[in-house]
Amino acid sequence: MDIINEAAAAIQPLSPDWYKGKVRQVDMLRLDLLHPQISGNKWFKLKYNLLAAKAEKAKSILTFGGPFSNHLLAAAAAAKEFNISAVGIVRGHHRGGALTETLASCQDMGMELCFVGRENYARKEDPEYLAYLMKKYDRPFIIPEGGANKEGRAGAEGIGKLISAHYTHIAVSVGTGTTLAGLRTQLPNEQQILGFAPLKKGMYLRDKIGELLSEKNNKNWELFDKWHFGGFGKNTPELIRFMNEFYEINYIPLDIVYTGKMMAGVQQLIEERYFPAAARILCVHTGGLQGNATIKDQLVYRVDGNCKAAKL
Ligand SMILES: *Cc1c(COP(=O)(O)O)cnc(C)c1O
Repeated sequence: MDIINEAAAAIQPLSPDWYKGKVRQVDMLRLDLLHPQISGNKWFKLKYNLLAAKAEKAKSILTFGGPFSNHLLAAAAAAKEFNISAVGIVRGHHRGGALTETLASCQDMGMELCFVGRENYARKEDPEYLAYLMKKYDRPFIIPEGGANKEGRAGAEGIGKLISAHYTHIAVSVGTGTTLAGLRTQLPNEQQILGFAPLKKGMYLRDKIGELLSEKNNKNWELFDKWHFGGFGKNTPELIRFMNEFYEINYIPLDIVYTGKMMAGVQQLIEERYFPAAARILCVHTGGLQGNATIKDQLVYRVDGNCKAAKL
């Protein structure tokens, strides 16, 4: 599948001014640059799902997400490139008015949207509900929310293949934990992985991620839920200030839902000397810049990631 050239993912050093020499090196793996819509980690989590759908001769894929979902947008774009139809089950009723920019783009790319109330959405893993959807949409290949299945994890292992062994610490944002699990499986156990959950009470994810790992791999990773800035999808002026400052120093656009919060956490951990002075840290930019549409007027950089003076 040559929809995306994974090898094109660039590694960009952060400015020593940002980490003030408190560690040896901080770099960022720019998965956000791979594709404007099939962004960041989403491509990796989708690709084996698309291949499996094809192997099963499914005529469509069906997946789940909220009105601002990076996953839904990526699924719509990847399905289009792959010439397979797509159905998106969207959380929450749509009561007239304009669609979010995310959902409008999904629809423009041919995804059929089906809005369901929160109660039905909560049944997204219930076999009975899935059987109903299978029948209603003529046997689609069902991809769980966030691409959180074994195909998704296998794809996420591919991100690990882009990471050199000389890094001592890897930082990654966590939604379902699929990406972290794939990285932990692929990378040598000596490389410590730090996961940042951008939600309140995110620690339940620790057990969920642990269950996805073999005993051999379930080592040397940490989860933090401290940098949620009010909760999932929420933000504060402090977070936006941080993201603008990060951009002015490093020329890297962060997203408001995931990577902005992760980098705020990384910075604080560096400040607190969590890392040894010899640490070489690689932060994974998992994309999601489209999610900045709602705060675009407050950012010094553009939502499409085509930033002024992108220094690469
Ligand atoms: C979806 C997403 C994540 C979360 O990935 P998981 O594999 O579900 O943990 C992190 N960052 C961004 C930008 C995302 O869009």
